[in-house]
Amino acid sequence: MQIVYGFLLAVIIAVAAYRAHSLTKSGAFAATFVGTIIFGLGGWQWAILLLTFFITSSGLSRAFRKHKEGLSEKFSKGHERDAGQVFGNGGLATFFAALHAFYPASVLPWIGFAASLAAVNADTWATELGVLNPTPPRLITNLRKRVEKGTSGGISMFGTLASLAGAGLIGYFAYLFQPFAFSSGFLAIFDFWHEEVFFIVTLAGLAGSLFDSFLGATVQAMYYCPTDKKETEKHPLHTCGTETVQIRGWKWLSNDWVNFACGAFGAVIALVVILITS
Ligand SMILES: [Zn+2]
Repeated sequence: MQIVYGFLLAVIIAVAAYRAHSLTKSGAFAATFVGTIIFGLGGWQWAILLLTFFITSSGLSRAFRKHKEGLSEKFSKGHERDAGQVFGNGGLATFFAALHAFYPASVLPWIGFAASLAAVNADTWATELGVLNPTPPRLITNLRKRVEKGTSGGISMFGTLASLAGAGLIGYFAYLFQPFAFSSGFLAIFDFWHEEVFFIVTLAGLAGSLFDSFLGATVQAMYYCPTDKKETEKHPLHTCGTETVQIRGWKWLSNDWVNFACGAFGAVIALVVILITS
């Protein structure tokens, strides 16, 4: 029965987000799928974490428009997210919610779920709030080199603090709403993590978002628009309609896959920390 309620809630949110231009049509279908699995197979605690990510990232991408004007690339797609972006950010969280349905007694799916969302939330907050940094960011692989705001792989003090805050909010909710707080028996071996889950998920989220920047600076596929003479993540067409040419990175490693890797890195870090400390 919960899956039916999950589906209905997911449809309502996806339609509202589509109407508010936060999602494209493909993004709305993808969000319906992601929401149905997470609300339906997870439950209300899982819904809170997903919605925290979804609402804050949609809100932040609308905020500070003035600071983002003319900047960029990262923001040129506007704030409408398509299916690739939805799955890039929420695909792994969906997998962990499904895993929870198969292993309801294990805490590990919750940790992986929360950490992957903390990482993509941290990354989104860093991207959207990093533009407020008074000086241009520095390249994560060469901190002496400054790059244009919005460039993949650029980090700043403000962006990193935003990243920490974004991860921390999910980490705090992961602690506050952990569905296993009152479990005993087998789960007792995980007793330590009632409070530690906050720190583990937060740090894993920060690590995931730094990994995202690292990929952006190294192997992410990057293109060049001959018309605007600008580096871009967009392919095959730039926002101006011109065909872009690849200048570096791995062809298959699009921005959506980098977001997926960001969440995966966060989840792996959190699960490894849990497993070696328990
Ligand atoms: Zn162009």
